[in-house]
Amino acid sequence: MKSRNLIIPSEVRTVTEALEKAGFEAYAVGGCIRDSLLGITPKDWDVTTNATPEKIQELFPETYYNNTFGTVGVVFEIPSHETLKVVEVTPYRTEGKYSDARRPDSVAFSESLKEDLKRRDFTINALAYSASKDELVDLFDGQGDLKNRIVRAVGKPEDRFGEDALRILRAIRIATELDFAIEGETRVAIQKTAEQLGKISKERIRDEFTRILNGDRPMGGISLAHELGVLAHIAPDLERGIGVTQNQAHRFDVWEHNLRTLQHAANKGWSFDIRLASLFHDISKPETRRWSDEKKDWTFYGHDVVGAKLTKKVLTDLKFPRDVIEKTVKLVRWHMFFSDPDKITLSAVRRIIANVGKEHIWDLMHLRICDRIGTGRPKEQPFRLRKYQSMVEEALRDPISVGMLSVDGSDIMKLTGEKPGPRLGWMLHALLEEVLDDPKRNDKELLEARVRELGKLTDEELKKIGESGKEKKTGAEEAEIAKIRSKYWVS
Ligand code: ATP
Ligand code: MG
Repeated sequence: MKSRNLIIPSEVRTVTEALEKAGFEAYAVGGCIRDSLLGITPKDWDVTTNATPEKIQELFPETYYNNTFGTVGVVFEIPSHETLKVVEVTPYRTEGKYSDARRPDSVAFSESLKEDLKRRDFTINALAYSASKDELVDLFDGQGDLKNRIVRAVGKPEDRFGEDALRILRAIRIATELDFAIEGETRVAIQKTAEQLGKISKERIRDEFTRILNGDRPMGGISLAHELGVLAHIAPDLERGIGVTQNQAHRFDVWEHNLRTLQHAANKGWSFDIRLASLFHDISKPETRRWSDEKKDWTFYGHDVVGAKLTKKVLTDLKFPRDVIEKTVKLVRWHMFFSDPDKITLSAVRRIIANVGKEHIWDLMHLRICDRIGTGRPKEQPFRLRKYQSMVEEALRDPISVGMLSVDGSDIMKLTGEKPGPRLGWMLHALLEEVLDDPKRNDKELLEARVRELGKLTDEELKKIGESGKEKKTGAEEAEIAKIRSKYWVS
């Protein structure tokens, strides 16, 4: 066996050497060896051994034990790298009996490294390395596949995906992250078994989907998931955009536009939230598409409102955390705002900030940049972008929320004798509306005078003024949207 001299971190060596000293075999195994051979920093390090979990625990001062998988985590208090806080040590395993394509019925340990490597998912992940012997164990030509940049199942692909359907998504995720191709028979097996993904927990699907988006080539990853019939089991709504042609401003159908928008977010290295919003921003164009005789073109009125609702549903089903969902939904809901550069007024910019939230306004701008590139149009002219940016910066200095008004609830109570209750909220929102129109009105004296006037109104009158802002903020298109919604929506 050719000398490899792979660089194995001291934490991993500590673990394997202690095991070997106690008379056991020990190998660094799996993705960490794959990544090391590729010259990539591994995300985590795994060790496999013929010691039992009990023996492993005895050998190290600080460990934790997960008895579902027989894995012992060896903890390093002061690791040389954050990926080495824990080195996971798992006894040689063999493929347990799988009755539900989800997890082994029992964890079956084995005596041999060979058995352990056989139950691993892909040839490039079935590599083991002994640092003390400088020996690379490669029973399925994982090195050949690494060289040819191929993801190939170990053993009979269909059986392997049948045993554990998560491997289907892992194949796509690993191929996307590494920019590898999936080998032919493995591809066919994925197509045949894709529907088994229904049995996999949403959380695990979400995690792989997240990694596909967070890689450098999310467009390729999502396209591949579609080609292999996998996306249909994750977010079928995205596929409805296929073949849905758009208006003259667009070169691509809705599907390709969403993907190109996503890819631009990745090219810029932008955050996961922007990527997610990019992929979903036009998800409801198919159902809102209408022909306009007047424009002699297709229109998509309300696709932002309907799309925000659908995005919420899809991301909730995929068990994304609430803050991620809320932010993505807001970005999708308000993504149309910056589309009309010549018509923007400062008060409109203040309103959009009030709606999407101060903390998200720059991400909305980033989404707009991705959206534009995703249509196939050239980069935004720098002066236009600068114009938006300076307007946002200017608007950010103005009061855009009730909390930024120069009177507050207790001032109102003092001035009018109002008691805590809905009237206070209506008054504050009425004041905010006026201040959004003209920030100069955020003057204590002016507002106090206004409060006295508002205090004289009946509940009904006050409610009308206080809530009128909401309508203005969400836009006059709501009525039209209601029609579309009632046609496609159950709420
Ligand atoms: P990364 O760490 O970059 O996510 P990885 O391939 O190392 O990728 P891990 O989840 O760390 O993935 O798993 C470590 C190893 O365990 C894999 O390389 C593979 O050998 C094996 N493995 C993980 N999940 C499965 C699975 N579902 N079926 C079979 N083997 C698996
Ligand atoms: Mg790993």
